[in-house]
Amino acid sequence: MRQADFPTDIRDLLFPAHTDAQMVYECVGCEAQYPLERFLYTCPGCGGLLRICDLTFDNLLDIPGPLWQKIFDYRRMLNDEGLKGIFLFHELIFPIIPLDAVINLGEGHTPLVRANEELSSWVGTNFSIKYDGLNPSASFKDRGMASAISFINYMIKSKGIKELLGICASTGDTSAAAALYLSYLPHDVVRSVVLLPQGKVTPAQLSQPLGSGATVIEIPGVFDDCMRIVEQLAEEYEVCLLNSKNPIRIQGQKSYSYEVAQQLDYQTHDLVVVVPIGNAGNVTAVMEGFLDLYRLGIIEELPLIIGVQSEHANPVVLWRQSGEYRPIEVRPSVAQAAMIGNPVSFPKVSRLVEEHFKERFAAVQVTEQEIIEAMLIANRHGHVVCTQGGESIVGLKKGVEMGLVFPNQRVVVDSTSHQLKFAGFQQMYFEDSFPEGYDIKPREELKNRPIAMEASAKAIARHLGLKKKR
Ligand SMILES: *Cc1c(COP(=O)(O)O)cnc(C)c1O
Ligand SMILES: [Zn+2]
Repeated sequence: MRQADFPTDIRDLLFPAHTDAQMVYECVGCEAQYPLERFLYTCPGCGGLLRICDLTFDNLLDIPGPLWQKIFDYRRMLNDEGLKGIFLFHELIFPIIPLDAVINLGEGHTPLVRANEELSSWVGTNFSIKYDGLNPSASFKDRGMASAISFINYMIKSKGIKELLGICASTGDTSAAAALYLSYLPHDVVRSVVLLPQGKVTPAQLSQPLGSGATVIEIPGVFDDCMRIVEQLAEEYEVCLLNSKNPIRIQGQKSYSYEVAQQLDYQTHDLVVVVPIGNAGNVTAVMEGFLDLYRLGIIEELPLIIGVQSEHANPVVLWRQSGEYRPIEVRPSVAQAAMIGNPVSFPKVSRLVEEHFKERFAAVQVTEQEIIEAMLIANRHGHVVCTQGGESIVGLKKGVEMGLVFPNQRVVVDSTSHQLKFAGFQQMYFEDSFPEGYDIKPREELKNRPIAMEASAKAIARHLGLKKKR
């Protein structure tokens, strides 16, 4: 719809006007602030994590919550490229980035699909699944890359940067997203490098950065080892770190929560949101996103956030149980994208929980067997969820059993990537070929294999027990 065709009370608010915002990095430890004019990942003063802070956020309070709802809802009908993706929520993500510097590769606005009835009754409650696997590189990481790469693009344009090397460590999806988004920027300025733990990402995930033309470096070890190395590189060399430690990624990932609220017509009373936790960037962004909406009166209540972890990678669960945080050594997990023993964003999570979410945050632990079977069962009922989606679904089932979730609550489960990225684990289940350490014993009734037969209608009909037409 063209601007002139919108109702008059909305017409002048359609395009973001909060462009003179003052944004800074703020340390979550010592609260020192630093200008956004360079790339920073940790506080130069105390080494703490940084978040992006809009010092002029309160100016947004001039518009009442219900009017914000209307602006965001009408804006969906506007065909402006900069506002079509996650930057529909421009004021809440990166108001200082001009719309013509926004890179939108089709991310965000993923469907919220009501869970099939049989699946809901297996879980013990009705719920919906938000398919973040339907992003361009097939995971939610695109949300954060869209904001990060838009910011980089803005820096290249406004600061005349001539050379930039984007780098990340990855359990698979970060590198897929980073390589995709970086490859959209001018190749004479931007290079793209990803560090992967050898043999610990799926073939589909490995093919993605290779296909986008990134330099792919494999090292022995697990994700935590890759993370240590890119952190050192970012500290000592001129590189741009694109892990979720970089707060410019968290800004974009908040869009998940804005969309959930919008898809529920901003009715967040009794809402439960279930997310898998790996490096804890996602759960941080989800909480920050809802907090923004709450502060602006766009929603009236914060949801209950249930974070789910495998018992093979459960530092946040252990923290919630004991009150003490310590990194753990991970064991093999089919929820490989969340197989992280020392989540970088943990300090942000603990702070958000202590200051804002309190009892509205729970951490639930599930087994490897439960994760893969929840994925298989969901996908046998019309869904396309990944292993981390399976982890969320069975985490919800546990939450219901534990009394965290009551019947008739609104529940949204995050399926963070696409089923196809994790087809290898499905195959291992069907073939009973899990390497040692996964602790998964496939059950016959969930196995499925192709059946080789002769090319004969008669033989196939006999096999299927078909009745002849009369
Ligand atoms: C990255 C990732 C996660 C974990 O998210 P964090 O922000 O690391 O907690 C979960 N699922 C998928 C598919 C991912 O790519
Ligand atoms: Zn600090």
